[in-house]
Amino acid sequence: MTASVAANPALLVVGGGVSGMTAALEAAECGRSVILVERSPTLGGRTAQLYRYFPKLCHPTCGLEINLRRLRANRNVRLLTMAEVTAVTGRAGDYQVTLKQRPRYVNERCTACGDCARAVQARIRNPFNYGLDDIGAAYLPHAMAYPQRYVIDPSIIGTPEALKAKEACKVDAVDLEMREQTLTLHAGAVIWATGWKPYDAARIQPYGYGRFPNVVTSVEFERLADPHGPTGGKILRPSDGKEAKNVAFIQCAGSRDENHLRHCSRICCMASLKQTSYVRESFGTEGKSTIYYIDIRAIDRFEDFYAKVLADPGVKFVKSKVATVTEDFKTKDVILNGVDTEGYHRYANTHDLCVLAIGMEPTVNAANIPAEIIADSSGFIEASPEGSGLFGAGCATNALDVNRAVQSATAAALRAIQVVNKVAGAEA
Ligand SMILES: Cc1cc2nc3c(=O)[nH]c(=O)nc-3n(C[C@H](O)[C@H](O)[C@H](O)COP(=O)(O)OP(=O)(O)OC[C@H]3O[C@@H](n4cnc5c(N)ncnc54)[C@H](O)[C@@H]3O)c2cc1C
Ligand code: SF4
Ligand code: SF4
Repeated sequence: MTASVAANPALLVVGGGVSGMTAALEAAECGRSVILVERSPTLGGRTAQLYRYFPKLCHPTCGLEINLRRLRANRNVRLLTMAEVTAVTGRAGDYQVTLKQRPRYVNERCTACGDCARAVQARIRNPFNYGLDDIGAAYLPHAMAYPQRYVIDPSIIGTPEALKAKEACKVDAVDLEMREQTLTLHAGAVIWATGWKPYDAARIQPYGYGRFPNVVTSVEFERLADPHGPTGGKILRPSDGKEAKNVAFIQCAGSRDENHLRHCSRICCMASLKQTSYVRESFGTEGKSTIYYIDIRAIDRFEDFYAKVLADPGVKFVKSKVATVTEDFKTKDVILNGVDTEGYHRYANTHDLCVLAIGMEPTVNAANIPAEIIADSSGFIEASPEGSGLFGAGCATNALDVNRAVQSATAAALRAIQVVNKVAGAEA
């Protein structure tokens, strides 16, 4: 089915994480009309999946709530969820954009009452918790999801389970006839804020991810520490549910490596330093962390945070690139093997749990963006071609912390507004 978006929006923002939301809001608050396109059912991106933010260790919900309040108060933003851009043609000031929008099977009448979820028994892996647990196939992506609207998973469409959801809904919000839609729209400028994804840890074969249950990634560890996560915020081992009081962090897991990602992911040192505080918070003085690192990259104002962690007697630093991870097959403990480069001692250290400080790569490799854009060797957006109205923002341009992602998004919004203003000026 093909539908045409009637309005002539000034700006299109692709990706509804903190960067895309920031760019959209900055432009909208300058009076521009904006279409914000997000491929998942909710805004928030990967920051919504963090337990706490460095350096202040506050909860990401505060930042998200502020942005959602700004969004609700602004009529200039039109939001399309479950949608992806498939083509961009045209030139600065006059782009034609094609999008595909997947069916949610729930319309805007939804009051988020949850009756459909209670009626459906089928389960799916929970994407919000990186598949560490499962949820019902009629679900709200997470408590702060925006829009606050349920989703029916496509796996139950055409089954009696979908009919149960429909029958349970008192306001006729379940629409099982929804189909994928193709939308076309016009935009003066496009901001690409599609963010990052964790490197596939199973490809780092010597570290045993996927083979040993007690090897997890840093993004999974965020969910394990979160009270809304799969373990209710208790740091428990996936193998046996035992408390993981002795945790190893392997830095540069997939980054700075010719066989994987060549770049430094820039955030993972800070992420592990932060995550040692989760171990402390859970187990007090019994909580022990060991960071295996090549060098620690804690730039600018993060230096103080690093100094604080260095002073913590519960955190040990081992300067070494871990060679292999093995498993004690009886206890399921993990054993890290390598050489400590500060004394050239061989080690085989046993831990309850091993966290891979996984590298960050662009969600959409810039080379595959359906528009003219210049990519660097890692697939991040490097620059826009001369005279272009296409701009990168946030982690689509590099591995950035939230603060820098927000700065990058604000700059992109300003450049996009300049393009649109120029066109408006020429037409006047
Ligand atoms: C383990 C770990 C811990 C971290 N902890 C912190 C921390 O404590 N403090 C801090 O400042 N930073 C932290 N970060 C970094 C932080 O996650 C990023 O700075 C932040 O996610 C950047 O936001 P973004 O909007 O650029 O990207 P994302 O959060 O990735 O958002 C991108 C959005 O775009 C959407 N999208 C993707 N592709 C498409 C498409 N084709 N079409 C439409 N939409 C699309 C996605 O669904 C997503 O909603 C951490 C990173 C890691 C790896
Ligand atoms: S779809 Fe209907 S039953 Fe399900 S949460 Fe929304 S209003 Fe409630
Ligand atoms: S930020 Fe630290 S852990 Fe991450 S790639 Fe760079 S040096 Fe390695």
